[in-house]
Amino acid sequence: MGNTILAVPDSRKMRSHVVIVGAGFGGLWAAKTLANAPVEVVLIDRQNYHLFQPLLYQVATAGLSPADIAAPIRGIVGMCRNVTVMLGSVESVDVLAHRVLIKGGRSVPYDYLILATGARHAYFGHDDWEPFAPGLKRIEDATEIRRRILLAFEEAENETDPDERRRLMNMAIVGGGPTGVELAGAIAELARRALAKDFRNIDPRAARIVLIEAGPSLLATMPADLSADAQHRLEKLGVEVRLNAPVTAVDAAGVTIGTARIETRTVLWAAGVAASPAGQWIGAECDRVGRIKVNADLSVPGHPEIFAIGDTALAIDTRGKPLPGVAPVAKQQGLYVGKLIKARVRGGKVVPFRYRDYGNLATIGRKAAVIDFGWIHLRGSLAWVIWSVAHIFFLIGFRNRLTVALDWLWAYFTFQRGARLITGSRL
Ligand SMILES: Cc1cc2nc3c(=O)[nH]c(=O)nc-3n(C[C@H](O)[C@H](O)[C@H](O)COP(=O)(O)OP(=O)(O)OC[C@H]3O[C@@H](n4cnc5c(N)ncnc54)[C@H](O)[C@@H]3O)c2cc1C
Repeated sequence: MGNTILAVPDSRKMRSHVVIVGAGFGGLWAAKTLANAPVEVVLIDRQNYHLFQPLLYQVATAGLSPADIAAPIRGIVGMCRNVTVMLGSVESVDVLAHRVLIKGGRSVPYDYLILATGARHAYFGHDDWEPFAPGLKRIEDATEIRRRILLAFEEAENETDPDERRRLMNMAIVGGGPTGVELAGAIAELARRALAKDFRNIDPRAARIVLIEAGPSLLATMPADLSADAQHRLEKLGVEVRLNAPVTAVDAAGVTIGTARIETRTVLWAAGVAASPAGQWIGAECDRVGRIKVNADLSVPGHPEIFAIGDTALAIDTRGKPLPGVAPVAKQQGLYVGKLIKARVRGGKVVPFRYRDYGNLATIGRKAAVIDFGWIHLRGSLAWVIWSVAHIFFLIGFRNRLTVALDWLWAYFTFQRGARLITGSRL
């Protein structure tokens, strides 16, 4: 197909054109902020849905179904008359011609461009580990992890060789950040509770779940008392926590940590992220993990018309520290850039972006979480209630909030996990 330049309707030609790439937290909040402003917005994403990534681990561990944590982008911005949604995978940007280039030969012109393409998992130069240790970023990753976990128990049930059965019932999670902690806690509960009585030849409660962290503590960004509490609660759930344990090899039969070896058929990767390649598209200066270094107003140096937000941007806080790759940062940045563009087209000004940190949360399993509000540290069941309410509140769409609340209530009283489906092909 030739290079098609999408036409702009005549009646709209005088209005500035804002192109947003990515309908994650950053891009979606920018689009909503620009709704009904005197600009035309094109919101491009390679998926037709917005994904609530903080609950992906629940899909991976059979607690929720994919549709519970995702919502169609067209449905979310359907009421915003000046926002056009476009399904497409952006491949590059022609910064001189002010045009976004989409796979298949299409291109879209822009006056303002917002890059909100997020991040992906990274293997620190060991991409060959990926087939053996899937990361968790997309719906497909979550259903693949769910398949591997459930299949391991099924195969162990049919296995007669005790060594192979042991390998199948060992599970290793690499990375002791929030995702690793949440996965380890949820897998332990799946094995000890939901699956406990389902098998005849194996006892799922005997599964060995190992959480491997290269650094000296779990949840490294949390205060020491909360990371110690998280470790203690995971150990009570039966998770084996290995600290100061950098992984040196991953293969089909297990994980190597220096000279130690864990024989397992199930390794999950929660250890590293890298930004999307958006920085390369525009030839911007990036940090070690590919995040675009942005100005105080989140514009890209040398390109006042291009903004980078969320996980794909490196923004600095008032103390000179990089902002974390979390949903509230992306949302607040989307909101800010939306307001900035509105102000620019109206001839107004805005102050530099400033992140408001409302707290840092992580859950460890049923009735356990830790929260750092800065001025107070919470742990245990109160923290878990706050974590649950916050996640239901921040989910997009009433249907998702209702189904997740009902699923959690059901799981709370029955210990069951309804989404225990093995889908996709076998290894
Ligand atoms: C497993 C997991 C758990 C997490 N837990 C938490 C948590 O508990 N709390 C928290 O605050 N944060 C959490 N995060 C981080 C949080 O989800 C991210 O910080 C947030 O999603 C970043 O928003 P974003 O808009 O920058 O990118 P994303 O939300 O990742 O959105 C990027 C969008 O860009 C699209 N895109 C990418 N490349 C292209 C392309 N070339 N063309 C078109 N579209 C493209 C993608 O399809 C996607 O829709 C978690 C992340 C993960 C992966």
